[in-house]
Amino acid sequence: MTLWGVSLTAMQGLEVNEVVDWGPAIRPTRANIDLQAVVANSRRLSELAHSPVLAVVKADAYGHGAVSVARALEAARSVAGFAVSLVEEGIELRAAGITSSILVMGPSLMDSHDLMVEHELMPMISDERHLAPLARAAGKRTRVLDLHLKIDTGMGRLGLHEGSLGDVLSQIESAKNLRLVGVASHLACADEDEASDAQCMTHEQLRRFAGIVATCRKRVAPEVRYHVANSAGILRFEAARYDLARPGLALYGNGAGPGVGLRQAISLRSQVTQLRHVTTGARVSYGATWTAKRDSVLAIVPIGYADGLPRNISGKGHALIGGARMAIVGTVSMDMIVVDVTDLPAAAIGDEVVLLGSQGAESISVAQLAKQAGVSEYELTCGISKRVPRTYDERLH
Ligand SMILES: *Cc1c(COP(=O)(O)O)cnc(C)c1O
Repeated sequence: MTLWGVSLTAMQGLEVNEVVDWGPAIRPTRANIDLQAVVANSRRLSELAHSPVLAVVKADAYGHGAVSVARALEAARSVAGFAVSLVEEGIELRAAGITSSILVMGPSLMDSHDLMVEHELMPMISDERHLAPLARAAGKRTRVLDLHLKIDTGMGRLGLHEGSLGDVLSQIESAKNLRLVGVASHLACADEDEASDAQCMTHEQLRRFAGIVATCRKRVAPEVRYHVANSAGILRFEAARYDLARPGLALYGNGAGPGVGLRQAISLRSQVTQLRHVTTGARVSYGATWTAKRDSVLAIVPIGYADGLPRNISGKGHALIGGARMAIVGTVSMDMIVVDVTDLPAAAIGDEVVLLGSQGAESISVAQLAKQAGVSEYELTCGISKRVPRTYDERLH
């Protein structure tokens, strides 16, 4: 399983660890991604945002697989382009044949200006010191590099100070190899509870952004596009509607309640690989935290915290087997869990086990599992490790 091996080598002649290809996985643990759901979500989000969307596919599309997700969205023509965090992530998409525009949102341009130009990636500039080297890199190749500016309206992390905007616009105007195509900001609290202080902050950020947009409109080309909405911005703030939106979490069907019309794209599945009969009083797994209160039948399932199943669900999580919700008992191990199937007499080796997703009438959502584990929905899907092969439902169009 290569990640950025190829592109990194291409980048700087760096030594890259040799990647061992295991061939087809033997262990029956898989993350399945419904690409049709991602495409449908992108269309729904576009509708809700009243604008085209840039699909945020950073961090390997939040664990869903950036290349497969981007290919499906590009083929469906349902998004205006892609947004990633790292230059490496942009190069990975180009190496996979993605031709749509790719916005690199992260801070770490470092000295990658030549790579940005070579691979036709659009930087989102939050530090004006990158302008001159970018202009030089574009000049060397006699190209014009499109770029976006990011303004800090209160997130306090990345972004130009509002006060330096005039100066920065002048610099871009005078650099003939640079073209401003977007002006953006990022919301810090759009997903916080209604009526909390944090929500006041979102309104304040949106008010400041509106001011910035008004200033820019007087100065820059009319084609420049403005954008501020992440998923929560799209779902909760009409004032975050501009020319583009940047959903990540919601693109994969998460971060939204039922009734919004989004579908969770990921499911996490394994199989029962052993059944054990134990007697009353038997203890299970590390720390012996579970004791059988009756003679029990236990299923051993080969998925653990090294696969991204949070260890914090020990003693409270569930797995779906035979269309029913069964308790995970004892501590989640690195490579396996134990599930109590005493009440499921038909349970057999080879039965499908669902940790995320649906089986029959039952389902476990990313939101439910994240809440149970005390982690965010973002961390949960990003944390499904590379040891878990991704499979794709391709039934598109
Ligand atoms: C990650 C990111 C997004 C997407 O945020 P979600 O909450 O996943 O929709 C949008 N904009 C920027 C700048 C980001 O870094």
